[in-house]
Amino acid sequence: MSDAVASNWIAPVGPELEAFERELATTVDVPHALALASGTAGLHLALRLLGVAPGDEIVCSDLTFVATANVATYLGARPVFVDADPTTWNLDPHLLREELVEAASAGRRPAAVIAVDLYGQSADYDAIEAVCAEFDVPLIEDAAEALGSSYRGRPTGGFGRFGVFSFNGNKIITTSGGGALVSADGEAIERARHLAAHAKDPAPHYEHSTLGYNYRLSNLLAAVGRGQLRVLPERVEARRAIARRYAELLADLPGLELMPEADYGRSNRWLTCVTIEPARFGVDREAVRLALEAENIESRPLWKPMHLQPLYAGHRVRGGAVAERLFETGLCLPSGSALRDRDLERIAAIVRSACRPRGSA
Ligand SMILES: *Cc1c(COP(=O)(O)O)cnc(C)c1O
Repeated sequence: MSDAVASNWIAPVGPELEAFERELATTVDVPHALALASGTAGLHLALRLLGVAPGDEIVCSDLTFVATANVATYLGARPVFVDADPTTWNLDPHLLREELVEAASAGRRPAAVIAVDLYGQSADYDAIEAVCAEFDVPLIEDAAEALGSSYRGRPTGGFGRFGVFSFNGNKIITTSGGGALVSADGEAIERARHLAAHAKDPAPHYEHSTLGYNYRLSNLLAAVGRGQLRVLPERVEARRAIARRYAELLADLPGLELMPEADYGRSNRWLTCVTIEPARFGVDREAVRLALEAENIESRPLWKPMHLQPLYAGHRVRGGAVAERLFETGLCLPSGSALRDRDLERIAAIVRSACRPRGSA
């Protein structure tokens, strides 16, 4: 960081950027990385590289942040949503297969599948890659929330044709705003590099033969990213410790469950999420959220499923009841790496005091 300032290299490209890309690629064990202004930019470029055109269909997770679907819409393509698996909260591989079988029998082939690693938990890539291969549909991994996680011992972000990370302010590491596109396909990453810098053709003047974007991360923010990457392992340990502590403090409450951790991987536990079944807990998730808010503690419902968003009204959804139920019952608890044990105890005490199991006074 101070190197970048001292060298006066406050320019769009520079040595910090190259070093950050190298170090990120090493961290996630993927040959090539491109640092970008946001994770959304990475998803958008991935679809551009796949040649997504108006009218194409993009199949993606129903339970996600809206950016996953919006990048399809940016290109005039149509997002189609597939429900979550109740045990992983991620793209259900069986429903994905159903969707692709039906598309194939109607003579359609979606231009891409985007699978999300929700709240840091990897999707089930053995199953998802097999389905995508069967129907010859390219896969993009939206690992925006999952830097530092793994699936069967391999870092998340490395599955499918492209992986995408976010370094937005709320993610596990941050450059205030930023993202990255990673791939084993070096040529595709070079093409993305070109598109991300206004697609300037080699010429002494400004020559453009294709539509580009202003999507590069600055050299200065890359320096921040390098420092953040160094603390990633500690951040993951801190977030996992927070999830464990919440489990200890809350596990006995009837009707309250932590997001299950799939046995195929290791989550960075970006956010600790719980579900609250009102029939057993006594009150619903919203009552718990409000009890926390009354003590000035911010918690949030899970992502609202895409098929319930006014923006995507009328879009096809396969299933949807699982994501809906998770949205109704799910709550993201405060999970910042800097939370101390007494903060967690205080939060847990408020959640506990909201619980009114049947039979209690
Ligand atoms: C944060 C996030 C994004 C977008 O990343 P930005 O860097 O904010 O553009 C995309 N997908 C998911 C699942 C996210 O959580």
